[in-house]
Amino acid sequence: MKFEGHLNNKLPNIGQTIFATMSALANEHDAINLAQGFPDFDCHADLKNLVNDAMKKGFNQYAPMPGLMSLREIIARKTEDLYSAIYHPESEITIVPGATLGIFAAIQALIKENDEVIVIEPAYDSYIPAIELAGGKAIVYEMLFPEYKIDWHQLRKFISVRTKMIIINTPHNPTGTILTNEDMIKLEKLLSGTDILVLSDEVYEHIIFDGFEHQSVARYPQLANRSIVVSSFGKTYHTTGWKMGYLLAPENIMVLIRKAYQYMAFSANTPVQYAYAEFLKRKEFYIELSSSYQLKRDLFRKGLKGSNFKLIECNGSYFQSVIYDKISDMKDVDMAVKLTIENKVAAIPVSAFYKRKTDHKVLRFCFAKKDDTLLRGLDILCKL
Ligand code: PMP
Ligand code: GLN
Repeated sequence: MKFEGHLNNKLPNIGQTIFATMSALANEHDAINLAQGFPDFDCHADLKNLVNDAMKKGFNQYAPMPGLMSLREIIARKTEDLYSAIYHPESEITIVPGATLGIFAAIQALIKENDEVIVIEPAYDSYIPAIELAGGKAIVYEMLFPEYKIDWHQLRKFISVRTKMIIINTPHNPTGTILTNEDMIKLEKLLSGTDILVLSDEVYEHIIFDGFEHQSVARYPQLANRSIVVSSFGKTYHTTGWKMGYLLAPENIMVLIRKAYQYMAFSANTPVQYAYAEFLKRKEFYIELSSSYQLKRDLFRKGLKGSNFKLIECNGSYFQSVIYDKISDMKDVDMAVKLTIENKVAAIPVSAFYKRKTDHKVLRFCFAKKDDTLLRGLDILCKL
């Protein structure tokens, strides 16, 4: 079928997300999928039983618009325990169907025509389309390569009178770098005296290695009072397919976000909220998550040691990025496709995280996989 009339194309520079493309290609060619970020192992059986119980008890209708109060209350306690920050469950915490929708809702609610939003690249690929659909303009700052660090002095030059928001992401997808206490203090100074908001994507807050502590904006009162924190249960509980996350923000910001969100989804899946409200009581689950993923990171990095890939430092997230310039001078997109079709291992080309498609010959591998999957992938990668 075809529509013969005129169509507005509101995202003329955007194609299909790389995650959909690479997973489809991996499936088509029966390749080991180290591309899209999701675990190939199951979530905890008790968590599935809790969802089941909630369904059997009849909790099958709409949840309250901002989320189940018992879930918001336990998130408030967790945030206070971990980051010494007080968020009021009634007015400052909202449960959303996935971090992607949370980010979208925050941007639609707070960004108007011609507002500028600073995006630090490489960046998760949903930020810029969300800004553009809101009529805003993404102002792109590229991190220093290959350290993937932010030069805050340089970044200051990207701020203008139209800057309304800056988006940060720690631990970082796709590079695995983290923001330090020093970064946060520099950010605080940079924004002091301005009206600039911070959208802080912290979906990998519980996947951080080598004894580092996650630097949530919530820890910094002067940042927290201008920030929206985005979190995702999918990453923490191995349930990316359940699509559930939450937002934290000061009340007067959250009021605006809820106004937009109530007409996007209205509310998130009810039985899943009941299950998380119960399962979040098991603090050991998220406290021990980092060490279990650190073992996988170490297995993957050790496996690539003698290979022709150069490893980028990885202090958090479940992604390991590598430079492949010793193997080929192909464009990273072509390299990822070739690797998937011919070698049967799928990866994400990191140029997909840049507006200008900057190609440093870097591929991203996801190590949230069974050890056996990682070993099979390593066996192939080490021969290249
Ligand atoms: N932000 C980042 C940095 C991510 O890697 C992801 C992963 N999907 C998301 C947001 C979206 O999370 P969700 O699956 O909960 O929408
Ligand atoms: N966040 C995941 C990744 O970076 C996947 C998200 C998605 O498929 N949209 O791979």
